[in-house]
Amino acid sequence: GPERLPVEKHGIDRRHVSRHAIKVCEVLRQHGFEAYVVGGAVRDLIVGLQPKDFDVATNATPEQIKPLFRRARIIGRRFRLVHVVFGPEIIETATFRAASTPGNGHTDEHGRILRDNEYGTHEEDAARRDFTLNALYYDPISQEVIDFHRGVADLKNRVVRMIGDPEQRYREDPVRMLRAVRFASKLSATIEPATLAPIRKLAPLIEHVPASRLFDETLKLLTCGHAMDCLRKLREVGLHQDLMPLLDVVFNVPEGEAFVDLALARTDTRVRTGKPVSPSFLFAALLWKLVNQRWQALVEAGGHATQSLLEAADSVLDEQARKMAIQRRFIADIREIWFMQARFERVSAKAIWRMLEQPRFRAAVDFLQLRAEAREVDSVMAQWWMDLANAEHDERGPMIESY
Ligand code: ATP
Ligand code: MG
Repeated sequence: GPERLPVEKHGIDRRHVSRHAIKVCEVLRQHGFEAYVVGGAVRDLIVGLQPKDFDVATNATPEQIKPLFRRARIIGRRFRLVHVVFGPEIIETATFRAASTPGNGHTDEHGRILRDNEYGTHEEDAARRDFTLNALYYDPISQEVIDFHRGVADLKNRVVRMIGDPEQRYREDPVRMLRAVRFASKLSATIEPATLAPIRKLAPLIEHVPASRLFDETLKLLTCGHAMDCLRKLREVGLHQDLMPLLDVVFNVPEGEAFVDLALARTDTRVRTGKPVSPSFLFAALLWKLVNQRWQALVEAGGHATQSLLEAADSVLDEQARKMAIQRRFIADIREIWFMQARFERVSAKAIWRMLEQPRFRAAVDFLQLRAEAREVDSVMAQWWMDLANAEHDERGPMIESY
């Protein structure tokens, strides 16, 4: 059976647990169900990080959960779960489920899981999770942590360890390789040898992951506050090769790495100080060196500046989309950030007023600043635009007139 660890063994301070998550557990318990805070929140609380969100796992089904709360909705088609809504906070409440067994038509020819939608026991729910430190359940009523896989010990020793047979688990879901790297970076942990060993060999399986999932996990990796370290680790374990054109760009374009280092250092600082980061800005930065390289080549071949930038941007984005679908809403922003770069260097006063109205003007100016730091453009020019972006409306007229 699982270990039931009292407060002294895990150290979670109940005051750091979302009161809404506690409420959901209490209500389910009052109705005779089991319910626990689970996953990333428990992991983060034990190491003293502030969880991003709180998930609950229970033996109640969605149909049993929903009527117990005033504002709750059942979501998801593949696996249904309940969103219990408390003002701005949503407590994702999921029924215990089991992993599908390979070879029953639920996996593709590489062993990747296509369906896992069977309810299961508490024990099965723990076993289908990826790493021991992600399979912890916190009971806010008894304040115990239920630990089926010695996850608390691994967490305290800063070890990322796969539950079950690592190779099989990566085949079921290759994204777990990226997750191993992310948690190792985020928690300053090491990847346990048997968990690390199959990654180099299995790295090509990432190709079979749907582009949208790859995007989601990559975005998490880049915004975990330790993006630089993640990229370094991806390279160490051989996950960057052909994994994402994006990362090839980072490592293979001359000076690509220095530029991306700058962008990611900035992002990491923002994440760690609780500021929001813009995925568009991040992807614009990651792909920029390649865009810039092609843009300059087209201009040297006699192309018109703006037109050439358009062409370069489209070719880079098209290539990228084949492996990892950057969401459409981000694509539009990325293009806008890039296109404004062509205008910053030569523009009429009238055009400046129009640029100021662009929704991504601020991001584009930040981007220009980044390029100046990377010594790609003149820093005095970049600072002028930054000052303009920061100026009050009535200060802008005189600034623009004297441009
Ligand atoms: P984060 O802090 O980034 O949200 P997290 O651990 O909460 O980290 P999620 O992607 O939100 O990560 O997933 C929640 C939980 O679901 C995980 O802690 C893990 O137990 C389980 N899980 C998520 N993705 C997988 C996966 N690919 N394979 C197995 N279990 C997974
Ligand atoms: Mg989470």
